[in-house]
Amino acid sequence: MPIPSKRIYPPVAGWFFPQFLPVPGFPPRSVSVPDFKQRAGDDSRADLLDRASADATICGRIFILFRRAFRSPQVKVDKRTIEMAVEMERLFGTDILLAAAGPRPKSKMPMTMEAVREWVDDCTKCGLAKGRTNIVFGEGNPKAPIVFVGEGPGAEEDAQGRPFVGRAGQMLTRIIENVLHLSREDVYIANIVKCRPPGNRTPLPDECAACIPYLHRQLQVINPKVIVALGSVAARYLLDTKETIGRLRGRFHTYGAAKLMPTYHTAYLLRNPADKRKVYDDMLLVCQALGTKVPGS
Ligand code: SF4
Repeated sequence: MPIPSKRIYPPVAGWFFPQFLPVPGFPPRSVSVPDFKQRAGDDSRADLLDRASADATICGRIFILFRRAFRSPQVKVDKRTIEMAVEMERLFGTDILLAAAGPRPKSKMPMTMEAVREWVDDCTKCGLAKGRTNIVFGEGNPKAPIVFVGEGPGAEEDAQGRPFVGRAGQMLTRIIENVLHLSREDVYIANIVKCRPPGNRTPLPDECAACIPYLHRQLQVINPKVIVALGSVAARYLLDTKETIGRLRGRFHTYGAAKLMPTYHTAYLLRNPADKRKVYDDMLLVCQALGTKVPGS
């Protein structure tokens, strides 16, 4: 093993092994790391740390190291300190540094619906933030057995801050009540993007990619038995596929431990009422999966 240079060794050793060599002023406590934020593409500290965890590059590993070293996701690290840590890794190897840093702390990611809502608050991660009146977070039972996921809010939803409250929403309510024999309060309803795309256009891939972590976290909190993906955008992003809704619908897919039924969006049914029968057939399968009363039986 090469001998560490004097330039690096004393302050860094004092920092990682303070019992050997305490150095006044170390560790540094509050300097921003804009280049790390840019790498992660997200202002969220928790998201940044998760991205860093998944990153196999030296920078990712160094960031994990800092988190473990300080036992806090809040700490900010300056560029010079990172350079020193890189040098430390070069000299001693990652394993020694991680061993010195101690056990990994528990994840600080939000795990209640209230915490997810706070996480989304004032989000400006994509361009849709500019045109919105309200963030349409989602609503319903946070322990619902079934979640409906649409594409994005329309004008009415944007105005009220609630999902599926326009004409398409009224049709969804009728499906929930008359076919599934549930109420809107029994289920949870959300969208792939939480801000209204201008002119009700289809959300762009980068907008969906920016917003979907929120939905994944909501679904993790709810842990539903069944998810109904309404329309091709919802089905594609939840199943990570490019298949058409016509090919995906009519059978269950899996999303984690949940069964996922893709079907036509109710806005599509307003324009193509002939396809209502197909959605009805899909909902009968959903009834069976939920163990609720199947209409006509
Ligand atoms: S659509 Fe989603 S990611 Fe984009 S600004 Fe709204 S909440 Fe944030």
